[in-house]
Amino acid sequence: MGMTMLAVSISGQTSERFGERIRQAVREGAQAVELRMDYLREPNAAEVAALIRRAREQKVSVIATCRDRAQGGASDWPTEQRIDLLEAALEAGADFVDCEFSHYVRQPVQTRLKAALSRNRKARLILSAHDFSGPFEDLNELYESIVTVCPEAIAKLVYTARHINDCFEGLDLLHDADRDVIVLAMGPAGHVSRVLAKKAGGFLTFACLGEEEATAPGQVPVRDMKELYRWDRLDEQTELYGLIGCPVGHSLSPAIYNACFEAEGINAVYLPFLVAGGGPEFEVFLHHVLRRPWLSAGGFSVTIPHKSHALDFAHREGNFVETLPESIGAVNTLKVGFNGIVSGYNTDCAGAMEALTETLGIERHALHTLQAAVLGAGGAARAIVAGLSEVGCRVTIYNRTLSKARSLAREFRCAAAPLEEAGDTTATILINCTSIGMHPNTDGSPVPPEVFGPDKAAFDTVYNPLRTRFLRDAEKAGARTVSGAEMFIRQAVAQYRLLIGSEPSEKRIRDIVFGFLNTT
Ligand code: NAP
Repeated sequence: MGMTMLAVSISGQTSERFGERIRQAVREGAQAVELRMDYLREPNAAEVAALIRRAREQKVSVIATCRDRAQGGASDWPTEQRIDLLEAALEAGADFVDCEFSHYVRQPVQTRLKAALSRNRKARLILSAHDFSGPFEDLNELYESIVTVCPEAIAKLVYTARHINDCFEGLDLLHDADRDVIVLAMGPAGHVSRVLAKKAGGFLTFACLGEEEATAPGQVPVRDMKELYRWDRLDEQTELYGLIGCPVGHSLSPAIYNACFEAEGINAVYLPFLVAGGGPEFEVFLHHVLRRPWLSAGGFSVTIPHKSHALDFAHREGNFVETLPESIGAVNTLKVGFNGIVSGYNTDCAGAMEALTETLGIERHALHTLQAAVLGAGGAARAIVAGLSEVGCRVTIYNRTLSKARSLAREFRCAAAPLEEAGDTTATILINCTSIGMHPNTDGSPVPPEVFGPDKAAFDTVYNPLRTRFLRDAEKAGARTVSGAEMFIRQAVAQYRLLIGSEPSEKRIRDIVFGFLNTT
C-alpha cells in the first residue's frame, strides 16, 4: 500500500467556481481533488468531462463523485443520470469514481460501472457508505461485504463520531486492513481521525479549503494539515502527543509543539483531543490510546475538565506521580513511558512561580518574607497557592464562593476571605486566578484600581488579552506587572521538556504565543 493521499473535496454550482477551487486546493498542497458533481446546477456529460480534464491539467489525482441526498449529497438525481455522469468522468480520465455501495449492489448499476471501468483500466472504483447519525452498526461487517462484492474496489466508510472514543474502531480497520481502504469519522469528535488516517495507513483523507467550505463536518483545512500537522512528515513511526480537554479548539499548544517538532526535526505530531464528558470518558480514551502501541503515544497535556481525572488515572494505573500534583490535586502532564505506563506531573505551578520570580527579579526563597493575595479558588489558584505555600509565602485566598476559599485555605494553612474584601488587602503581591477580565469580557477586574500602588506587584494568570484590565490598573498606579503569558510560556517549556525529553527554544514558543495574542 502506498502513502496516504491528501484529498480536497471541491464543490460549486458552476464550472468556473470548481475551476477556481481546484487551483486553490492544488496551490495549498492537495494531492487529489474530489469533484462533487452533485453540487453542479444542471450538469451534463460534456460539462463533467470538461471539469475532469481541467482538474487533470493540475497534475493531481481526480475523484469523481455524484452523491445522493440520502448519503449527504446535494441533489437527488435518478441513479441512471448519476451513472451517466460517472461514465463521462471515466471517459474523460478520472482516476477514481465514487459510487454508494447501496446503489452498487443493484445489478444494472454494477454492470454499467464495471463496463465503464473495463474501458478505462487505470481508473479505480471507490465504494462508499456514510452514516451521519453515528458509528455504523458493524463497521467490519460492512467492510467485509464491500470487499466481497467487489474485491478490487476501495471501500470508503464514513461515519459520525459522537465522541472521540468512536474514532478508534475506524483507525483499527485502517491499521489492520491488508488492502486500500478509506475510513473517516465526521464531526468535531472525529477531527483527529482525519489526521491519524495517515499514521494508520489509510488510502486517503479529506481536507477542506477553509472551514466554511467543508463538504463534511469536522474536516481539517488543508493548510492546517500541511503546515500545522505537517502532513508530509507523518508516517507509521510518527510519535503521537496532544492536548486532552474540552474545549480544545482554541489552544495554542498544537501550534507550539508542532513548530518545535519541525524546528528540531522530531518525527512527532501534537493534536487536540476533544474528550467530552468526565472521568469515565477520560479513562476510556486513555485506555484506547494505551492499548494500541502502534499509535506510538508519547504523552499528553491535560486541561479543563480533566486535570483531576488525570491525577486519579496516574494514581490507579501509572507508575509515578510527583508529590506536587498530589498536593495541587491536578495533573496537567501525562507522560507515556516505553512500557505504556503513564506518569503524572504538574507544570502550571512551576510555570507560575518562575514567571513571578523571574519577572519581578526576586529569588524564590525571598517570597517567604512577602504576603500574597490570591484571587480565586479554582484550578489555577490551587497550583499557585501550593507553590507559594511551599516557599512559606503568607497567602490570603479571596473568592466569590467563600466556602471554596476556606477549604483551599485549610489545605494549605492560609487565610480565606470573600472576594469583595480583596480591595482592602495589605498584601504586596496580588494574583488574579479568576477568569475575570478574560476575552471577551475584557472590562472586568476582580479588584478596584485603588488597591494598587508603587509598592505592589500584580500577576494575572489570564493571558488573553495580554494586557488585562487588572494589569492596566496596576500599571497606572505604578505597580509592577506579570502577564499570564509569562506563566503559560514557562509551563509550556517545562512540559515540553518532560514530554519530549529535549530542551525547546523558549524564544520560538514566546514568538508563537505573542504572535497569536498580539493579533487577537
Ligand atoms: P476554575 O477552576 O474554573 O476557577 C475559576 C475561578 O474564577 C473560581 O475561583 C471562580 O469563583 C472565579 N470566577 C469565575 N467567574 C467569576 C466571576 N464572574 N466573579 C468572581 N469570580 C469568578 O478555572 P481555572 O482553571 O482556575 O482558571 C482560572 C483562570 O486562570 C482562567 O482565566 C485561565 O485562563 C487562567 N489560567 C492561566 C494559566 C496560564 O498558564 N497562564 C494556566 C491555568 C489557568 P467561584 O469559585 O466563586 O466560582
